[in-house]
Amino acid sequence: MQLQMGSIQSIVRSRDFTDKLSDDKVIREHGNSYANEYRSPSQKARVLTESWVRAEVYCPACFHKIDQAPNNQPVLDFFCSSCGEGYELKSKKSALGAKIVDGAYATMIERLQSKDQPNFFLLRYSAIENSVIDFFVIPKHFMAVDIIEKRKPLPSSARRHGWVGCNILLSRIPQSGRIAYVKDRNILPPSEVRNNWEKTLFLRDKDCLPQKSWILDTMSCIERLDKRFSLKQMYEFADHLRALHPGNSHVKEKIRQQLQVLRDRGYIRFLGDGTYER
Ligand SMILES: [Zn+2]
Repeated sequence: MQLQMGSIQSIVRSRDFTDKLSDDKVIREHGNSYANEYRSPSQKARVLTESWVRAEVYCPACFHKIDQAPNNQPVLDFFCSSCGEGYELKSKKSALGAKIVDGAYATMIERLQSKDQPNFFLLRYSAIENSVIDFFVIPKHFMAVDIIEKRKPLPSSARRHGWVGCNILLSRIPQSGRIAYVKDRNILPPSEVRNNWEKTLFLRDKDCLPQKSWILDTMSCIERLDKRFSLKQMYEFADHLRALHPGNSHVKEKIRQQLQVLRDRGYIRFLGDGTYER
């Protein structure tokens, strides 16, 4: 894996890119002119980062090379032709922060409940060095309705007034749901990426779905404790969890329930005497 992204000139000269341009809706709408597109820094960044992912990134589930999705699939940027996993790419120049902006709120909620929901690739790059700083995958099983924040409708002065977008609340996603390929310019071994991917696949099980938000929030709490922790320490998060799940008056019972789910799935171990280990 190389962290350097190509130059716009070399990418445009490549056949891959000219093939892509020929059916790229955005380019068509803008008069089919390459030059126009380069004037927009965001378009330039999109071309550079997509090209890097296409060249360097492998599927975390099976190590197969990632392919770019056809342009008529707006919610899918990449897919794995071997195992069928889909990926949406989010790129940023600045630190990834507590939330990332996504598209229409209603579409996102619909996607979270559909079978063809994609995983997310998060890429942070340096525009000066033209290179990748961080690259993560957030598996789709870490996405729950609760972590999608509804934005205010666009004002009447906007072209698409009334349109409602959404944010993905990264702060609600446990660390184990941000699987790094590249962290602060360090490339992680593929075996580690795949191990981390496999460790939480149990979240895709049907019986985890109804309590997904609770499981994720419990995982986040566990990550804030030492490797070995007690039930008593978990109870200290009761107020925090109550605030995240208003209206639930049985928080301690809920905590015990999630610990049991995580123990049954091998995510944590019960050592006896109210003590657990992750
Ligand atoms: Zn795959």
